[in-house]
Amino acid sequence: MPIQSSPFPHSKPRREKIAILGGGMASLSAAFALTDTAALRERYEITVYQDGWLLGGKGASVRNRDAHGRIEEHGLHVWLGYYENAFTLLRRCYEELGRPPGAAIRTLRDAFIKHGAIVVGEQTPRGWEHWSVNFPETDEWPGDGRPLPSPAESLRGATLQVLRYAMDWWTQWRGGLPAVDDVAGQLRGLLKHVLTLQASLLVGRAARALADNVRSLLDRLRSLARRDLETDANLRRLWIVLEYSAVSLIGILRDDVFGSADDFEALDELDFSDWLRKHGASEMTVSSGLVRAFYHLAFCDGAGAGAGLALLGMIRMFTSYRGAIFYKMRAGMGETVIAPLYEVLRRRGVRFEFFHRVGSLELSDDQRRIERVVIGRQATPKTGEYHPLIDVGGLPCWPEQPLYDQLVEGEALARHGAKLASFWSDWPHVEQRTLHLGEDFHHVVLGISLGALPFVASELIAASPRWQRMVEHVKTVRTVSMQLWVTTPIEQLASNASAPVTTAYQVPLETWADMSHLLPSEGWKARDGVRGILYACGQLGDGDDPVSVRDPRADDRAALEGFARGFLEEHLPHIWPGGADSRGRLRWEGLFDPEGRTGPERLHAQYLRVNAEPSDRYVLSLPGSQKHRIAPDEAGFEGLVLAGDWTRTGYDLGCIEAATMSGLMAARALGAPVSIVGEVPRRRAEPRVELPRYVDRPGEMALRAPYMMEEVSMTALVLRARQGALSALLDRYLNNPARGHVRYVPAAPFVVLAAAFAGRAFSGDPEHRRLGYMPETDVAFWVPAWAMRPGKGRLIPERLVWFLPHVFVSTGAAAAAGREIYGFPKSVVDVEARRSGHALDYLSVVGEVLARNTPETCGTRARILEVTRSNAAPGPLRSVAEVLGEAMRPLDPSGAWASSMARRVTADEVTIAFLKQFRDVQHTDRACYQAIIEAKASVRTLRGYGPLPGTFQVRWGDHASHPFSADLGLEPGGQEALAATWVDFDFGMESGREIFRADGDAPSVSERGRALSNVG
Ligand SMILES: Cc1cc2nc3c(=O)[nH]c(=O)nc-3n(C[C@H](O)[C@H](O)[C@H](O)COP(=O)(O)OP(=O)(O)OC[C@H]3O[C@@H](n4cnc5c(N)ncnc54)[C@H](O)[C@@H]3O)c2cc1C
Repeated sequence: MPIQSSPFPHSKPRREKIAILGGGMASLSAAFALTDTAALRERYEITVYQDGWLLGGKGASVRNRDAHGRIEEHGLHVWLGYYENAFTLLRRCYEELGRPPGAAIRTLRDAFIKHGAIVVGEQTPRGWEHWSVNFPETDEWPGDGRPLPSPAESLRGATLQVLRYAMDWWTQWRGGLPAVDDVAGQLRGLLKHVLTLQASLLVGRAARALADNVRSLLDRLRSLARRDLETDANLRRLWIVLEYSAVSLIGILRDDVFGSADDFEALDELDFSDWLRKHGASEMTVSSGLVRAFYHLAFCDGAGAGAGLALLGMIRMFTSYRGAIFYKMRAGMGETVIAPLYEVLRRRGVRFEFFHRVGSLELSDDQRRIERVVIGRQATPKTGEYHPLIDVGGLPCWPEQPLYDQLVEGEALARHGAKLASFWSDWPHVEQRTLHLGEDFHHVVLGISLGALPFVASELIAASPRWQRMVEHVKTVRTVSMQLWVTTPIEQLASNASAPVTTAYQVPLETWADMSHLLPSEGWKARDGVRGILYACGQLGDGDDPVSVRDPRADDRAALEGFARGFLEEHLPHIWPGGADSRGRLRWEGLFDPEGRTGPERLHAQYLRVNAEPSDRYVLSLPGSQKHRIAPDEAGFEGLVLAGDWTRTGYDLGCIEAATMSGLMAARALGAPVSIVGEVPRRRAEPRVELPRYVDRPGEMALRAPYMMEEVSMTALVLRARQGALSALLDRYLNNPARGHVRYVPAAPFVVLAAAFAGRAFSGDPEHRRLGYMPETDVAFWVPAWAMRPGKGRLIPERLVWFLPHVFVSTGAAAAAGREIYGFPKSVVDVEARRSGHALDYLSVVGEVLARNTPETCGTRARILEVTRSNAAPGPLRSVAEVLGEAMRPLDPSGAWASSMARRVTADEVTIAFLKQFRDVQHTDRACYQAIIEAKASVRTLRGYGPLPGTFQVRWGDHASHPFSADLGLEPGGQEALAATWVDFDFGMESGREIFRADGDAPSVSERGRALSNVG
């Protein structure tokens, strides 16, 4: 629920207080955005409540003062080259920090190093093999807030890359294969086709045709290459990349992801691998290192991942990176990212309450508001404020233990060895604090992670079915992490000397990285004998264990070392062969140990940890779970916004970028003017309560979709209209109610008057199909419009839709279904029509009208519309498609898109946009439901179409109740049609989709929406 005003109308405080609970990346991003301007700092007073002594959560790291100040991470963290929001935030943070010349890390570019070398493990009958890929690097850097290419643009780019790759592949291998020139011809043809294709045309029939072409090419290549794939590792890898990319493309096109918006969420129900299989991927590809790498990087091996998010993540990772695919931090994440954010926020006046463990959020009696936050205080800073950072080699860092000398209870804490950040810590709180709404906070940003919510948000979960569904369906998993300091340089350890990040290796430590670049930052001297640093991490379990269960290894060092020993002895030599002796056994002396222990005892000197604390568990993106997440601005309780990689941002993957995006969205919900790059249009959250079942009544005709129309003969007439009037119409009925969330503009200065005569109209739903059918006549004005999206400084057409402002039908059934289900403004009229062959000779529409609007005006039945055809003057033999194609050209200079779209008007499918609304019974100037809907009408059978000869004269009454001239910018009284087309077909009106729904609360305008308003 967005919070746009103070909840205290009578006693508006000078500054509104925000309590941010938890200090992970999402919370810190929210705090950064909420203090980004002087006006915001004046408006808000912010306090971050964090248990223990560390910020950073899953991204925290410390310096161990007892171990040479070495870095100890929560887990291996690399940033990806498309993390535009996270990099931008951090760049700005460093700029504001203004560290002096000579400081260890002064800028974003000092903080990261580029990394392009990746190795994926492949388990073959011969054992583990390593597949190395070097992703090219450029001079660019992310972090200037530049927009990401849209998924459709990325996909077009990727398609071109794949086809070029296939060409190379073919050229490379054709020597050994039968020389079949048509393959090269086919490839060249496809390449040409895609080069001329507008990205946004990847919808409907064009998409399916492209998918079929790619499929037949893939099948052909597979049959040629099949026999060599088993034996030749290089060919197999090339093939896997090709098949993976081609199948992803086929799936996206076939599933019509770009049909109405970039709807990756529609693919969420299927696991990524199953989705690849569904679209024809072979087991070789599905079980390849390439696909497994995604599962391992997202800690979801065995648990699965929704296909839509996996695809979106892969598309961004491979096609949208800038500079390098990966970025490694030059020091620990704690000092590279979290400490600079802390320092800047502190300067901006944000207060940090360390040692504050949130116990529970409590609701008001009516369960609508957050009334109290109950917190256990774990320690007392002697001077009133705890200063958490220490200096290591000139860098402000987080220490491995609290700075006891700053705490009243310091000595006792040190003696107790209390694990203050542990959920299971038995250290008694020194005070219970209760924060009260109105006194201590006006807004709460909940940044504690999902795993802990059953404990801290149990009242919210009990009060809200949506919260119940979220904690039930969005799962988390334990992780394990290991850091090894080694005495052998990496070049001698690795078979591949390019210091790679290796993944898809043996679980549960499936991801490894050489981190030897950290040696200088840890300050090792040559005489210490440390020559390299290796990090590994992975998942433990598959997200099914209850979050309240402790992992015994988390607190039992001996058990953890036993586990690490087993793994290292069995698996390390495969991946780091230089660490093994001539018989392939691990050389324990290769591990650095300042105390000179021998054998596995050297593990005492390494860093091992299991992340099993509820809030520390990694958040999964299981198939079918995305719809159960709750968005930062839709928490459903007054005074509460959410921040974390577990919320619904549209980019719902557990990573630093998602956490940053979520924090920014939380800040936006509180009024901060943030700009978010790569925001994915998100579907509406599941309704707060389960939708009740519709109570069917006999004879009631609001039947279930799809709504089928068979034996349809349609005549479509093009009428010139004024663009300005059409713009005003779209603003009035679509753009203004959508409050900036969507933007429709006229596609051409034309409207189409279409008269459709259907032999049979019925529900295609199996249960309602048996009720019967009705003949139906529909006469309507169709306004072509582009749904726009923000591009670089301007709006770009995204998809063609039709808006029908006036619709007349012959039956009550048609009116009921149209109005109640979709939002067609239908009225029932008498239609008289005369036709000869395909041609409409005469049409008359008579219905109830109000000629003028005065209190004395009595409604009458009168002619609303009339069409007459004359053969005397032959008229231009032009089709609707031609005329519209031409008219749209100014917006689409290549013409390819527009003419193809126009073809689809008559030949394939159309998307219709609606304003669906119901008047409230009590507040009668209000709508109790109002939404912008889009629904598709798809042609099932096309029997024929073509231009109609003759001259068509259209006349209208222009009654006050039917102001066609003013509404549509037509001539008063009537005008001649510019072109006419007939079509004979069957079609189905599919179920629709809410593009935007106005809730009782004013919805916050998305950045996309704001961009739409600004650019437009
Ligand atoms: C092992 C591992 C490796 C990863 N590697 C990568 C990677 O390479 N790249 C990448 O992009 N992402 C990676 N991630 C994911 C990334 O770390 C997270 O997506 C991100 O840190 C989540 O941030 P957050 O703010 O949403 O949550 P968190 O980081 O979990 O923040 C929650 C905050 O709430 C605090 N908190 C919890 N309970 C309480 C309480 N009761 N009272 C007060 N405070 C509380 C926590 O201490 C923490 O500060 C990795 C995650 C793990 C676990």
